Amino acid sequence: MFLVGLSGGIASGKSTVVTVFQELGCAVIDADIVARQVVQPNTPAYHLIVQSFGRGILLESGEINREELGSIIFSSSEKRQLLNSLTHPYIQKTMLKQILKYFVLGYRYVILDIPLLFETNKLRKFMKHTVLVYCDPQNQLSRLMRRNGLSEAEAMARILSQLPLDEKCRLADHVLDNSGDRESIRRQVLELHAKLEASLDYLLLRLAAVAMLTVTGGLACFLLRRALF
Ligand code: ADP
Repeated sequence: MFLVGLSGGIASGKSTVVTVFQELGCAVIDADIVARQVVQPNTPAYHLIVQSFGRGILLESGEINREELGSIIFSSSEKRQLLNSLTHPYIQKTMLKQILKYFVLGYRYVILDIPLLFETNKLRKFMKHTVLVYCDPQNQLSRLMRRNGLSEAEAMARILSQLPLDEKCRLADHVLDNSGDRESIRRQVLELHAKLEASLDYLLLRLAAVAMLTVTGGLACFLLRRALF
């Protein structure tokens, strides 16, 4: 098995691309969904966050008020680091479990949809392939304004708060250009899908797993025989 890291910029078309991969039967793990799951009420990360940030960040329902927490960490890098240190171990553990599940199910690769993939080296080194969903600035702005009902200034502020897509392009192994129509991006996803399907990179880990099972299986037989006779 191998890992494919996928990312983009706001409204560049990441969800659109992920939907096509899912229609093709690919295993996709969405880091945003996992990040939301691990802070559900009464999970370990939830308790740690309440201990550190106080009950003021809770909604009446007991759930974490994501907007409130978002504005706290937006204005303090210390608090952002604190929140990351509380949640990241659980996010990583959950994602690892899901990757293992797909491995056991026989998937050759898993696509990890990670918003900040290109902002940090930490995750990229585990990816056999990295994919960036690019979109030209004009289309990105107008699609974001339309989708989120934002003014031009509001949409621009959100785009400018991210690493520029051109910079991310330089870091990616594959760039899917979503500046054109939906048919064009679909065609590009089909091409990349064909490449990933044809890749033999998945064999290495499979062989390693078989070798490990053979060795430990042999060891288990040996010990059993010694114990019995
Ligand atoms: P992201 O997940 O990167 O934020 P989305 O996939 O949600 O971006 O796309 C942003 C918006 O642009 C959505 O409303 C989507 O329907 C629209 N969109 C995506 N790709 C295209 C395209 N090629 N042509 C026209 N609209 C598109």
